[in-house]
Amino acid sequence: EVLIQARDVDKVFENGCHALKNVSLDIHRGEVVVIIGPSGSGKSTFLRTLNQLETISSGRIEIDGVHLADKSTDINKLREEVGMVFQSFNLFPHKTALGNVMLAPLKVLKRDKAEVEQEAKDLLYRVGLHERMGHYPSRLSGGQQQRVAIARSLAMKPKALLFDEPTSALDPEMVGEVLDVMKGLAKEGMTMVVVTHEMGFAREVADRVVFMEEGELVLEESPERFFNSE
Ligand code: ADP
Ligand code: ADP
Repeated sequence: EVLIQARDVDKVFENGCHALKNVSLDIHRGEVVVIIGPSGSGKSTFLRTLNQLETISSGRIEIDGVHLADKSTDINKLREEVGMVFQSFNLFPHKTALGNVMLAPLKVLKRDKAEVEQEAKDLLYRVGLHERMGHYPSRLSGGQQQRVAIARSLAMKPKALLFDEPTSALDPEMVGEVLDVMKGLAKEGMTMVVVTHEMGFAREVADRVVFMEEGELVLEESPERFFNSE
């Protein structure tokens, strides 16, 4: 069952940069798709179009059957349904780990506080940070902050999660703990689109590997075929 469908997506920035050329991709529910390719090939731009952080110049994108460009589509709701984890964790510095995870369900969804708090604690437990939920971001390592950021995305109960180079800003010794959390999510059936340079993760976790070059999606393979044809 297709959850995210991109068809003939083109993106030309105002400066004339043609960042995406005719990109088509189906992402099925429960699937992990890893996007790789050289710097500047359009990976991040493509990811950002999937939750409307970037508009597209032409083509169409559907999330769970809803066409993003339809006038009646609630873009804020779609952003809740497709979460995004960035390279820089972007936590609120004046909120604790728990406060960061609780914030959007409370303020955006206006849900009941006790319920949100319990779910947030469960999520922090799931990413291995139960004991640090009262810590402010400045007292957490990069790897811990990124795990809080993942928990924060999960707090919105998204249908899919997009990861834009989630380990690129981390010291090498912290990459593993973040990838382990991502592997756990994949096992639990989360639909994930991951831009990363971590080939071990791609080989081990991806259902499909997509290669981008100069704005085009040039190759789409199973990891077995992708890594054996290199
Ligand atoms: P990647 O994620 O593969 O490194 P990007 O999607 O970040 O590539 O960038 C693709 C191309 O689009 C690059 O040439 C980049 O310079 C350009 N680009 C990205 N964002 C913008 C922007 N806001 N305005 C103009 N050009 C941009
Ligand atoms: P705020 O910035 O709104 O004060 P915090 O980030 O301090 O929020 O905390 C958010 C919620 O988490 C509050 O309801 C607070 O009671 C609870 N909380 C904060 N730290 C802990 C902790 N170590 N153990 C249990 N609950 C906590």
